[in-house]
Parts: sequence; structure tokens; C-alpha cells
Amino acid sequence: MAVGAATRRSPTTDVGGELALSVTVYHPSSSLSEPMSRFLVLGRQPLTDLRDAIQCSSDRHGQALAKSGYFFIEGIFYNDMRCPGALDYSKNIIDWMHEQEGRQPLVARSMDGVRIDQLTIRLRCPYLYAHQGNCEHVLIFDSVRVVSGDMPRDAQDYPVVVFTTRPRHPGCYGCEKSPARWISYDDIHADRNPFMWCDHCFNHFHFNANGSASYQPLPHVEDLSTVPE
Ligand SMILES: [Zn+2]
Ligand SMILES: [Zn+2]
Repeated sequence: MAVGAATRRSPTTDVGGELALSVTVYHPSSSLSEPMSRFLVLGRQPLTDLRDAIQCSSDRHGQALAKSGYFFIEGIFYNDMRCPGALDYSKNIIDWMHEQEGRQPLVARSMDGVRIDQLTIRLRCPYLYAHQGNCEHVLIFDSVRVVSGDMPRDAQDYPVVVFTTRPRHPGCYGCEKSPARWISYDDIHADRNPFMWCDHCFNHFHFNANGSASYQPLPHVEDLSTVPE
């Protein structure tokens, strides 16, 4: 998509006449039937503004992983490397792709400073937003419009939250049925980090019938039931 170059102005400028994009972010691991949030972002805004607007319940857990994340758009990883210690999640994927013969090499960039109107995107095409290690959301640019009528005119009002659903705890990654109760980190019994467990799966994989730990050391866990909705 070719989007005209809007000139850089102070953040309090009237953005009437500029381009805004509608972006829908879907619940993690859901089909496209479950939108989580929708935003209006200005073409002039950096991708980091969009990332900061996305509120996911998994952001409330974990520390080191909290600031790491990426968008994957048209074959390019845009990593959030603003925080010291942020992880380049794309590296392992890119290394793996390089080992696959005939694969198109993938590219990674920092998302900081990349304006949304500089992206090559296709409307209504599913892209990926990933954060917290393995929390993945489909993200779709629905439409482009010109800021006009009763749309907010101040750049500071963007991204506009068009709607957002109540954050919800993700389901258990083990049985994929029950709601998650525990989140574990660096768990040798888990194929993802962090890993979400329901009570039943967590006990099954970590404790013997007599209640003793089935292996040592048990991973660090957080109790999701103590996190307010
Ligand atoms: Zn998420
Ligand atoms: Zn389970």
C-alpha cells in the first residue's frame, strides 16, 4: 500500500486530512471470530504506539519477557527492542528459516521509529503480533480512511480504542479445555515458555499421587487466580 508522506508536526497538531488505519487484534490462539480490540492509528504513528495500545491479559504476568515482542508483517519481523534486555524473538525463527533450503530469507528490524505509513501492508490480510514468549495474536489492517467528520483531530488522541473486550485469562495449553490457573516459567515439562496450566494438568505433571513433587526443581509459577480481572 502506498500511503502519502505526511509531514512531521508537533503531536498537538490537527490531523484532519491525514490517513488513519483501522486495526483489529484478535484474542491469542483464537480463530478470526474473536476480536479482542480494534484501534484507529494514524499513518504517522510508529509501530511502537500500536504495540503500546494493545492490552493483553498475559502482559500482567512475567517480567523479563514483558517488554519483548514483535509484529510479523509481509515477511518482516519488527522487534520491540526499546527496553534494555528485550529479546529478539525473531532470531531463532530466522536462523531456522535460513537452514531450510529454498526458503526466502526473512528480515528483522526494530519497530522503533518505523511509521505505519512506511509499511508495506495488504488490507484484510492476517499478520502476527507476538509477545510474552508465546502469546500470539492475529492482527488485521481493516481499512484506511481520511481523518474527517467527527473523528478525533488531535494526534495525541491516537491510537483511538474503537472497542476492547475484557481481558481474559488464556486457557490451559495442556488440555486446551479448562481455564488456566497457573503460569510456569522455564518449565522442563513445557514446550512453551511461559506455559499456562489448569489445576488438573499442573498437578498431573508436577506432583505424585501422594502430593510430593514429581521432579526437582519445580518451575517458578504464578497463580493467575490472584490476578484481578
Ligand atoms: Zn497476548
Ligand atoms: Zn489443562
